[in-house]
Amino acid sequence: MGEELFLLTELQALDSEIAKNEQRKKKHSHQIQQREIKISELEKNLLSKQEELKEIKKKRRAEERRIDEVDLKLAKHEDEKYKVKSRDEFTALDKEVSHVEGEKREIEDLLLELMEKEEELTQFLPSFKVKAEAEKNELDREKKVLISSLKELISKGEKFQEEREKLIPQLDPVLLEQYEKLRQLKDELAVVPIKDGICEGCNVKVPPSLIGRIKRGKEIVYCENCNRMLYNASLRKV
Ligand SMILES: [Zn+2]
Repeated sequence: MGEELFLLTELQALDSEIAKNEQRKKKHSHQIQQREIKISELEKNLLSKQEELKEIKKKRRAEERRIDEVDLKLAKHEDEKYKVKSRDEFTALDKEVSHVEGEKREIEDLLLELMEKEEELTQFLPSFKVKAEAEKNELDREKKVLISSLKELISKGEKFQEEREKLIPQLDPVLLEQYEKLRQLKDELAVVPIKDGICEGCNVKVPPSLIGRIKRGKEIVYCENCNRMLYNASLRKV
């Protein structure tokens, strides 16, 4: 096989490694991103539960203050009962008292509901927090592992690129351009071997006249079916 063709197969092997490496990098980045999203969801969830509890406590205290106010009102009305002078005044006061008592019952119901919610959340939060923290730690650990292998992939990719840059000047620019175009068009396979008279790119028989030209190795021979550059697998340099 001609030296140039051999270099092209080297370049193709390298390019396929580069492509695989890029795929892995993309996958890793995606997995890192997924973990970051999950971590922030866990944090948000925990924070929202904590906020919910704070809000309930605030509401509960407000309702307790309302009960105090209502109790004051009732005590005041109790005093007023001793000062009423007419039956009408007494009836009006009585009506007002039962109205305030109704208000108090409503507040008490609301308060009870709030206290139940508060107790539920107070009991739930510590274990929820522990669970969330554990999940977060696990995700953090996974993220660190992924970041460190992503770094390895990045440096591997840089080494591949360095190798590529060393290889490129050894190739004829026209041939290189052909190779690049073919790679784009032909599933990243521009140079393929013939094996048992068959093109390994498209699995179609190569005419004997072409095989003869390939074996002589004086020129670049293209598959008549798929246009890929052909080389003789058995003559491949190691
Ligand atoms: Zn072919």
